[in-house]
Amino acid sequence: MTPAVCNPTPGAQGEYAGLLVIKAYHESRGDHHRNVILIPISAHGTNPASAAMCGFKIVIVACDDKGNIDVADMRSKAEQYKDSLAGLMVTYPSTHGVFEETINEICQLIHDNGGQVYMDGANMNAQVGLTSPGNIGADVCHLNLHKTFAIPHGGGGPGMGPICVKSQLAPFLPSHPVHATGGATPIHAVSAAPYGSASILLISYAYIKMLGNVGLKKSTEYAILNANYMKARLEKEYKILYTGTNGTCAHEFIVDLRPFKAFGIEAEDVAKRLMDFGFHAPTLSFPVAGTLMIEPTESEDKAELDRFCDALLFIRKEIEEVIQGQSDAKDNILKHAPHTQWVITADEWTRPYSRQAAAFPLDWVKANKFWPTVSRVNNTAGDRHLVCTCEPMESYM
Ligand SMILES: *Cc1c(COP(=O)(O)O)cnc(C)c1O
Repeated sequence: MTPAVCNPTPGAQGEYAGLLVIKAYHESRGDHHRNVILIPISAHGTNPASAAMCGFKIVIVACDDKGNIDVADMRSKAEQYKDSLAGLMVTYPSTHGVFEETINEICQLIHDNGGQVYMDGANMNAQVGLTSPGNIGADVCHLNLHKTFAIPHGGGGPGMGPICVKSQLAPFLPSHPVHATGGATPIHAVSAAPYGSASILLISYAYIKMLGNVGLKKSTEYAILNANYMKARLEKEYKILYTGTNGTCAHEFIVDLRPFKAFGIEAEDVAKRLMDFGFHAPTLSFPVAGTLMIEPTESEDKAELDRFCDALLFIRKEIEEVIQGQSDAKDNILKHAPHTQWVITADEWTRPYSRQAAAFPLDWVKANKFWPTVSRVNNTAGDRHLVCTCEPMESYM
């Protein structure tokens, strides 16, 4: 899988570009009717969004209770739509944090029924050096350079989502009206600049150059090892939602907080309480509502992984106090989290727990306290009560 194009900026745009390339490929063969894209239910929301933007018909494929793609359902849908199948969008390892063991079989099924395989490369940091999209059977994939090949991991800055294709798709890679890029019979540009957010490429290039073959593979191994280390520490106290057949996860795993809902504790309460320990919560309620998805990556050292586990295990004790009735179901340390400096230093303190417990739950928090600036704001109130701030035209007269 060598030909690549760097026009798309984020991963989502890579998906859009890749699907347009698949579309152009089918059309070049006279297969204008191939308009069905299969997407497993475990997919990131950008997958169906990109497919819809390309005008594809989306057919959802089920997952089993372990979080893996239901191969029987995949087979039946691939065969049912074999005359109109454009392709499959698949994430490997999946957003559920498992390496789908049936990935080769799944890709073969799609090819056998006339489709092309789009691999969402967002989890490439669990593949680099160990396997590859081409090896798995994908025809096109994007690389989230800002996720896999960047320091610090993720970073939340601008994205860069080049797509890589197998040779049959190379002629359709996007071009640009000002500076020609891409294939011989290209699709249109998908972003304004011919090489997307080109400055990101330098970071990725330096990252790859500095790590080299050995270092890149080690990063992947650390990303997977770190996730499994944390999972091993946390699974004694929390339910881990999906794992592979040998009980391990890939580079991320999902902590199920739904069992505490019956006692009034929500995933959001845990996310907010983490702020009192100085942590920004990991992914909340995605891809499964009521859960936290933890992806430690290769970037954190063991001490940091331990600090995070210590915080979550301490919070588990606080949850237990609510379950056992030692803390009030509504008026407790979790429901009031996070605690700001103003709340903690107020002259009046009426809470049923101590200020120390609220602000400095563990010793190391004392040494390096990060103060949240605001307490809990009703999350959805703002979304549901839109306030128009535009002045009426008369105000400009
Ligand atoms: C992050 C992510 C995307 C989207 O990538 P962006 O660069 O944020 O647009 C798509 N799929 C998966 C699985 C992701 O994790």
